[in-house]
Amino acid sequence: MTAKVILGTEVAKEIREELKEEVSFLKDKYGITPGLVTILVGENPASVSYVTGKQKAAKELGFHSIQDTQPADISEARLLELVDKYNRDKDIHGILVQLPLPRQINETRVLYAIDPKKDVDGFHPVNLGKLMIGEADFLPCTPAGIQQLLIRAGVQTDGAEVVVVGRSNIVGKPIANILVQKAAGANATVTICHTRTRDLAAHTRRADILIVAAGKPKAVTVDMVRPGAAVIDVGVNRIGMTTEGKAKLCGDVDFEAVKEVASVITPVPGGVGPMTITMLMSNTVKAAKLSIK
Ligand code: NAP
Repeated sequence: MTAKVILGTEVAKEIREELKEEVSFLKDKYGITPGLVTILVGENPASVSYVTGKQKAAKELGFHSIQDTQPADISEARLLELVDKYNRDKDIHGILVQLPLPRQINETRVLYAIDPKKDVDGFHPVNLGKLMIGEADFLPCTPAGIQQLLIRAGVQTDGAEVVVVGRSNIVGKPIANILVQKAAGANATVTICHTRTRDLAAHTRRADILIVAAGKPKAVTVDMVRPGAAVIDVGVNRIGMTTEGKAKLCGDVDFEAVKEVASVITPVPGGVGPMTITMLMSNTVKAAKLSIK
């Protein structure tokens, strides 16, 4: 069997088309334009590139978008004032503070200061708590993207054995929480694995759906995958440079070998990655809709 490759680039395009329609509906019916501010502190090249991608997507969807760049030596108090300003700004529905922040700033304090109704990254404890009890307004973007990939590729989650490799707060734990909910596109039996898991392969081999977010190149090899499993590779590992001088990327799964036994698989790049920004846009549209109430 050769797996069907799920292209996140295509699914992301489909969702963005749907979002465009929602944006025009909000403008026509309520006179609301979804507003997103991305706050960037300093000039870390990876952060600049992420924020640029987010701003580009926001503009393409017709959002009111603001790129607020602050110097690397900004004080925590000043950054908190800025967050507060956007919390009170009626034209802004989503606030994204690009991480990591410089050392003088306590990231947790800044993230906690964002109004949960504008927390389109879905990292505020209020939103993570709501996710836990099945009442989420905003799902964290990468896990939300993974769920959409599964739904739109027709992968049945209901009753499925899902194994998640990785327990981070931004991927592993939230995707496990999303898929265990009593809800459409979820209802799975979920196991979370990590570096203290005794026999990783014994778990991964049981998975109907295997989600890998370990940040270790080729941590999952073909012998660890049940034939017919759906494999979602979240990992993004830089393994050198291309001849054009771009970073050469690979996932956490041995793609070439695993695609010969899986039923569906996501590539790296072009799998989960393109979904993350799209789900940020989707959360911003949702925040704009919630503001109507
Ligand atoms: P992280 O915070 O470093 O967490 C990695 C998790 O994997 C940890 O829980 C760790 O266990 C576990 N782990 C590592 N090696 C393992 C192994 N050999 N066996 C079992 N468990 C192992 O990483 P993250 O932020 O979740 O990100 C994971 C990967 O996804 C990274 O490559 C990251 O770049 C990528 N990512 C991609 C996107 C996207 O948009 N495509 C978004 C976010 C992250 P312990 O807890 O025991 O240490």
